[in-house]
Amino acid sequence: MVEILELHPGMMDCNVLLILEGDMGVLIDPGTGMNREKLLRAVGDGLNGRSLKGVILTHEHFDHVGGTGAIVEEFGCPVYGSAEAAQVLADGDPMRSGAFLFGSDMDPVDGVSVIGDNLEIGPLSFDIIRTPGHSPGSICILECSSRALFCGDVVFCDGGVGRWDLPGGHLPTLKESIKRILDLNANSLYPGHGRSETDDARAQMEFSYSTIRHL
Ligand SMILES: [Zn+2]
Repeated sequence: MVEILELHPGMMDCNVLLILEGDMGVLIDPGTGMNREKLLRAVGDGLNGRSLKGVILTHEHFDHVGGTGAIVEEFGCPVYGSAEAAQVLADGDPMRSGAFLFGSDMDPVDGVSVIGDNLEIGPLSFDIIRTPGHSPGSICILECSSRALFCGDVVFCDGGVGRWDLPGGHLPTLKESIKRILDLNANSLYPGHGRSETDDARAQMEFSYSTIRHL
């Protein structure tokens, strides 16, 4: 039985999401890492004795990935992301990560594995959907048994969509990406900011799409 915890280690962080199954866990987006101790404590408390087997990055923005190095140092687990995200982390790129917007440096992280269309970590299996538009390296992650969709900054609940005015953003591409995830039969929606939806994920995505459809 998959359990999903929402962690909020710091004010500037995205929703840091911890997927638990049996004796292991997988982390979606470590957040900024600007408060390293709080991040490590939140993840450690969430794991509660389980072991962290992997980190998956929804995209390359600092408020989602800045804490990756801290997590790897503490837990020694592999990190997966798009080719674009892997490159931004390897370069410690302050522009494409948007770290400059936070007045912070982006610590380089080597060895991010470029994710394919599917990923298995222990008993968990994930479908990976490429969803650029908010950023070039955005992906959505569908956990196959619970059909929970981790959508990063592509769509949010209650009518929000990701910004397309940041470096590499593109509105028509974002629209195509949202259309692509509508038909996944997701049971629940876990965006990178704001609340999650465990009742009608598709209705939330359709509502959000309707706010940009005519732009
Ligand atoms: Zn973002």
